[in-house]
Amino acid sequence: MARCPFCKEEINELKMEALEGKVGLVRLNEWDRIYFHAGRTYSGKETYYCPKCEALLPIHNEVEAEAFLRGLLRIVPKEDIPKKKGKLGQCFVDSEDRPYQVLRKEEEMLILRRAPKEVEMLYRELDERNKEQLEIIRLS
Ligand SMILES: [Zn+2]
Repeated sequence: MARCPFCKEEINELKMEALEGKVGLVRLNEWDRIYFHAGRTYSGKETYYCPKCEALLPIHNEVEAEAFLRGLLRIVPKEDIPKKKGKLGQCFVDSEDRPYQVLRKEEEMLILRRAPKEVEMLYRELDERNKEQLEIIRLS
């Protein structure tokens, strides 16, 4: 289940807004009335919000929305990230100890995605000494 990074509520849907555009030709028909012809519609930029607190989320398309709802994409506000960095850096893991990678930084947020299997294997093979040098951050 996904969780809103702002109100921390569990959410199973997102509020989405997209403007639909139309391109084509207009002409006059046999009764001299204007009509739209040979056109197509397209959707513009998609915007996603938390349905509970209405916060704007840094999710930009359906693929990301799906990953977010499945828990494969996480959004972490910068104020929730500890300043402390281990010698080997920081590592984000979920409640089941699966590591996440930074996909991008956006304004005051980090967008993380679940690390591929190979990275997860490497993480599991780290010994305690190495783990102590990593600042492990648990995602809620
Ligand atoms: Zn919210």
